Amino acid sequence: MLVIALISLLERRTRLALVQGTGFVLRICKFAESDLIVTLFTDKWGKRTAIAKQARRLSSRIGGVFDLLNQVEIVFYEKPGLDLISQGSLIQGFLGLKSNLKTVSVALSVGRLLNRLLPPCQPERQVYALFSLFLKMLDSGDVPMDHLKIAFTMKALTLLGHRPHLNSCLKCDATTDSFSFIAHRGGVLCSKCSQGRGIPVSRGLLLSLESLLRFSLPRAGVVHLSLKDIQLTNEILTLYANFISP
Ligand SMILES: [Zn+2]
Repeated sequence: MLVIALISLLERRTRLALVQGTGFVLRICKFAESDLIVTLFTDKWGKRTAIAKQARRLSSRIGGVFDLLNQVEIVFYEKPGLDLISQGSLIQGFLGLKSNLKTVSVALSVGRLLNRLLPPCQPERQVYALFSLFLKMLDSGDVPMDHLKIAFTMKALTLLGHRPHLNSCLKCDATTDSFSFIAHRGGVLCSKCSQGRGIPVSRGLLLSLESLLRFSLPRAGVVHLSLKDIQLTNEILTLYANFISP
């Protein structure tokens, strides 16, 4: 019995360990009189939800640190359900992208999508590195924001195990000129197999999307996408993400 009690105590201490790392703020929610509940995408522990006590007080040392999309350095106690933030400091606030309504809107929509897709407490270091690069590129304005958003979303879906099937018909493997995207199938069917279902999409656009998956984010701008292609792709990716994470 004594051994079991000691193991239980050790496990509890392990769970309450004080840990340090970096993270991006994906969601904030006011709590009680002056606290904040913060959802962070951390480098080492994946998505975590934590409480920052008294963060909304004017005198707080961490006031303003946990604004949406900020990259922060944090020290927190790991706790089941809700971590407790002990310290926090700002690494990057991405003021460039936040000064433009369109870029901040793109970044926030990608942040919301990540918040939905990321499983809790599971490290996703490649997605973390990709999101870091995405925000830096959006902040610099070197690559068209629509291309960046589509390329990031497709790459993140792929890294999280949801790569859409775009290079041939899911049912008969045909590579014709016209396809339809079927969200619940996770890819495209040829016009014969789709029988009028799904969103019509050309082979040309599918090839462009495959290129975006292959190219690194800084090269996303070299892929040709018309305004119509961008609208259609956003519609397809939204439907697909809604199917994966309703
Ligand atoms: Zn087919």
